[in-house]
Amino acid sequence: MSRAGARLGRAPAIALAAVAALAACAAPQEPAPLHAAFDVTREGLTALLEPLPESVRTRILAEPAIFLELMAKTRSQPADLLVLVDKQHALAEDYRPPDLIDIDHRGLTVTRASMQLRAFVLPDLAAMTAAARLAGTDVTVSSTYRSFDRQAFLFDYNVERLGPEQASTLVARPGHSQHQLGTAIDFGSIDLGYGETREGQWMLANAWRFGFSLSYPQGLQDITGYQYEPWHFRYLGRAGAELAHRFFGGVQQLFLLHYRHLMPALLAGSAPAGNRASAS
Ligand SMILES: [Zn+2]
Repeated sequence: MSRAGARLGRAPAIALAAVAALAACAAPQEPAPLHAAFDVTREGLTALLEPLPESVRTRILAEPAIFLELMAKTRSQPADLLVLVDKQHALAEDYRPPDLIDIDHRGLTVTRASMQLRAFVLPDLAAMTAAARLAGTDVTVSSTYRSFDRQAFLFDYNVERLGPEQASTLVARPGHSQHQLGTAIDFGSIDLGYGETREGQWMLANAWRFGFSLSYPQGLQDITGYQYEPWHFRYLGRAGAELAHRFFGGVQQLFLLHYRHLMPALLAGSAPAGNRASAS
């Protein structure tokens, strides 16, 4: 008797719990994060994108899940792959990539021996070369890694030849060259004519699919600091190059400039400070 009574006594509590659970389901829910890798809602993402140009914001908000998926993928790459190196942002004089390898005897088309790249660039460079050959052209590697000292020599040489003003639009100062990263490549003839060749045309249309991004596009000297260089590409990895191509209008500079703020903000979560529960 007492056992039955106890069971009966428990029943209202169970019923109440069930009602409470139902009520919780019926209450307005927190907006769901857009992607499992980041604690960000559509509203939060919209706020984060505020500093970006409107055309970029519109593209991202049209496909936020794809944008966040690509951003998540960049996190598995080496940290310095997407570091900004331009006229304002320099590498240290002693920065030297840890994994440079010679690219000789790997089935690539090269214009001279003993050029070096970071090892992880090779698979996509090989894949891009194979695709170009299938399309009836080639990928000709003409210049790759340059040390700080080598860049200093090149810059001084060009200042002597052209004067400081013109030299600075053509050649990076030491520490400011993407070539010191070991992920930048000059292709083909290294002149404006390259953009008109079959190979150059193929590269301009397809390199991003293999992780290579054109660093200094035509008509963007005000943004990049450099004249059009149809031969100079930087390896960003496939996710990075797709982000630059798909959402940033192919303007690598714009992508890298904003990436360095966007990624930490995404990782920190993006709800306005007042609405966030205290995490500490
Ligand atoms: Zn170059």
